[in-house]
Amino acid sequence: MEHKSTEKVRCLIIGSGPAGYTAAIYAARANMNPVLYEGIQPGGQLTTTTDIENFPGYPEGISGFDMMEDFKKQALRFGADIRIGIATSTDFSDTLLKVVIEDEKVIEADTVIIATGATAKYLGLPDEAQYAGMGVSACATCDGFFYRKKKVAVVGGGDTACEEALYLASLAEKVYMIVRKDHLRASNIMQQRVAETPNIEVLFEHNTLGLFGEHGVEGARLVKRKGEPDEEIVEIEIDGFFLAIGHTPNSKIFADWLETDETGYINTVPGTPRTNVPGVFAAGDVADPVYRQAITAAASGCKAAIEAERYLLENGIRCNG
Ligand code: NDP
Repeated sequence: MEHKSTEKVRCLIIGSGPAGYTAAIYAARANMNPVLYEGIQPGGQLTTTTDIENFPGYPEGISGFDMMEDFKKQALRFGADIRIGIATSTDFSDTLLKVVIEDEKVIEADTVIIATGATAKYLGLPDEAQYAGMGVSACATCDGFFYRKKKVAVVGGGDTACEEALYLASLAEKVYMIVRKDHLRASNIMQQRVAETPNIEVLFEHNTLGLFGEHGVEGARLVKRKGEPDEEIVEIEIDGFFLAIGHTPNSKIFADWLETDETGYINTVPGTPRTNVPGVFAAGDVADPVYRQAITAAASGCKAAIEAERYLLENGIRCNG
């Protein structure tokens, strides 16, 4: 396809969560004149959570949206060029790295920092959207605190679901795990911890039909052993409904060039944000299936900008203009 225009930049950052904005702050302060495209969800996943209480520096907590506005303002203050737009394809076959924006503009970059994040999977029920921020969450670490001494359910049977259930069990009165199979997929140790936690009840062979409640979530309607002769409808009283059925890293447009694990998380050299393509760095959740926190994403964005600066210096590309 014919592209309308081409622009040359030293440092292109794709994504606007904590990783992207932190990379922009560092790159701008290092005179790299970074250009950042915000992507589909400006501010990233944090803008869909409620209050952030575990990010150091905000003793009173802060809304995810406000925190990301602060990150953005800080990047703008140092001259980062922050733009609305979505990267739609890439060509990393040459040292001049090409990224196409909205299928029409080509950015030719000396360095690219990928901070496109990951997207939590949802079941696809209309009720999940209706109760978003009113009892439905995909992050126990972010929102669990609001359910102290309450009843919650976690959907999923993997390591994340077990981890979230265990975390929630330390706060909530009761935690249900809604598991579609008759066994957990999680590692043995996680299964054992769940089994040893008295206030977790695992509902095997249950699927969620919907949620109900007048002022936020008050319960879930489940079906047990769907399609079997003994199929049964079950209702549980809950105040919170947590999805833990996996995340999808937003790495599709890089798949032709970058090595990923089987789920699509970008592989980086351990302890660094370096990918298999020189000059391309990955930061935040797109390269992190394990920690997935705002603070760890921000830290990896910082590392990516420092690595990008080093790469420019090593390749004789000046950063003083
Ligand atoms: P997984 O893919 O391992 O597990 C997803 C779970 O969600 C499965 O139980 C799956 O069910 C269930 N599920 C998926 N879709 C649906 C649906 N539509 N309805 C109901 N249930 C559904 O994802 P995780 O996020 O748990 O883990 C991702 C990776 O990260 C894994 O490799 C894991 O080991 C790792 N990890 C490790 C941790 C640790 O070591 N501490 C912590 C967290 C993650 P089913 O089993 O039926 O397919």
